[in-house]
Amino acid sequence: MMLPLKKAGRFAIDLLFPPRCIFCENIVPPGRQVCPKCARKINHNTCGLTSVQADGKKIPCAFLYSYKGIVRDSILQFKFHGKKTNASWYAEQLAEKIKTAFPDARFEVVTSVPLSKNRMRERGYNQSELIAMPLANFLHIPYAECLRRIEENRIQHFLGKKARAENVRGAYLPFGLMAFGKCVLLIDDIITTGATLAECSSMLFLGGAKSVYCAVVAHSEFNSVEKKQTL
Ligand SMILES: [Zn+2]
Repeated sequence: MMLPLKKAGRFAIDLLFPPRCIFCENIVPPGRQVCPKCARKINHNTCGLTSVQADGKKIPCAFLYSYKGIVRDSILQFKFHGKKTNASWYAEQLAEKIKTAFPDARFEVVTSVPLSKNRMRERGYNQSELIAMPLANFLHIPYAECLRRIEENRIQHFLGKKARAENVRGAYLPFGLMAFGKCVLLIDDIITTGATLAECSSMLFLGGAKSVYCAVVAHSEFNSVEKKQTL
């Protein structure tokens, strides 16, 4: 009974304040978040699987898109310019990707890469958590904070591959008991070298996780990482 009412409410709000495409800002029909033109463009964008190494294990990581073009622009808006509404769309798409990428996985908890307190204060939100929470809803799995960032490290974007791994070492710790004995799905916005996801996966194992899978919105080629806009 509640669901149709909620949907009708959403529809009415969309009519009053027409939704805009998260990529090009053009008005889209009620209930949509992406215009047909942008949908066609991103359908041609790559999605696939990569992996990171943690505790001698190969941790699979599903990604939706390459970090380029309109996808990169939308993530920069989302991450650095407060366009938080993009999160629900990324979450919905990524949830579908996860179902096909890991058909046999039985996830028991969804978590996200945490931000330091300073970064959280600056930005006001954790972009990975904003994606992971609705994603957990789409997959009908509980969301829980399972990690904490314990120190501010240098911004990854200016570092080489080896320095990135060293930079995140010791920056995270397991938090709470929700990962203990569980199959954990770890969410982040972008994977570049995989250093952050590898370290976070290790910390989830330290916190007792039985297995870890990762999923991100976009896969960035290390050499094409944005410099200026990521400060
Ligand atoms: Zn568009």
